[in-house]
Amino acid sequence: SATPVTLLGLGDMGTAFARAWLAAGYPLTVWNRTAARAEPLAAEGATVVATAAEAVAASRLVVVCLLDDASVGEALADADLAGKDLVNLTTGTPDQARARAEWARARGARFLDGGIMAVPPMIGVPESGGYVFYSGSGALFEEHGTALTVPTGAKYVGENPGHAALHDVALLSAMYGMFAGVQHAFALIRKEKDIAPKEFASLLVGWLGAMSGSVHGIAEHLQSGDYTKGVVSNLAMIVAGNPTLLSTAEGQGVSPELLTPYLGLMERLLAEGHGDEGTTGVVDLLVR
Ligand code: NDP
Repeated sequence: SATPVTLLGLGDMGTAFARAWLAAGYPLTVWNRTAARAEPLAAEGATVVATAAEAVAASRLVVVCLLDDASVGEALADADLAGKDLVNLTTGTPDQARARAEWARARGARFLDGGIMAVPPMIGVPESGGYVFYSGSGALFEEHGTALTVPTGAKYVGENPGHAALHDVALLSAMYGMFAGVQHAFALIRKEKDIAPKEFASLLVGWLGAMSGSVHGIAEHLQSGDYTKGVVSNLAMIVAGNPTLLSTAEGQGVSPELLTPYLGLMERLLAEGHGDEGTTGVVDLLVR
């Protein structure tokens, strides 16, 4: 029979997780600070309780999905966590996750931190490709893996409780860089009446897909220490093109502010004598 689950936090994300467990027939106890948000779930079969402490007492597996780390400490302040398996899906920093793991251990609970790589509509939809990074107690993950993979996929990234949050933030950061480039590209064509954004978008998606393979090349460099291996566009050639990018932006009346930090780092790398390498060395320039 399915493992009983307790879920604290019925915001958009918590509610999506709750519905997935209910749909799969898991006995579910829920609590939310604002009680009205739990009412629809009661009608769908969840046991709604009035306090977080009661909710924690109801199941061994306790999942929290609240706004931020401070709200987790607040919500669980009066709960008895001894013998509990606490899974924290609340977004936070790696340091917060490690401190929360220590906090849970001191209260007698096993702890697993999660970083959700999905938006609420992707939860309960296996083909959406969503998943959660988990790190912390491998024993907890092994024991409750079945229940935890009901709402969405799961990738366990090790015993260090901070590593789920670190993977989450690293992927988000890469995405922001990609969006920055995409927004600059659209800005360049913004005033051109005869370039349709929708047609341009297809070209952009194809190009980004083709270029994404270079992520593996950077990884290969970082692991081998040889930053020239397999380089098809060397840094000297790339930096020689910087004025073209900047002049084009200026010509189109577009601010270069998203572009200049990256171009500047590549110029610094070239000045330090890495012209025959690719751009991997930028990673080392960033690490203080
Ligand atoms: P919502 O803003 O919809 O919900 C926030 C939840 O936190 C509510 O249940 C709220 O209760 C509760 N809460 C806030 N402060 C406190 C507190 N001090 N004590 C007790 N409960 C509190 O957020 P989401 O559900 O969307 O997000 C939840 C977590 O999931 C966040 O950490 C978010 O970063 C993460 N996440 C969300 C994604 C998304 O697309 N939505 C994507 C990936 C991760 P109340 O109803 O009483 O206000």
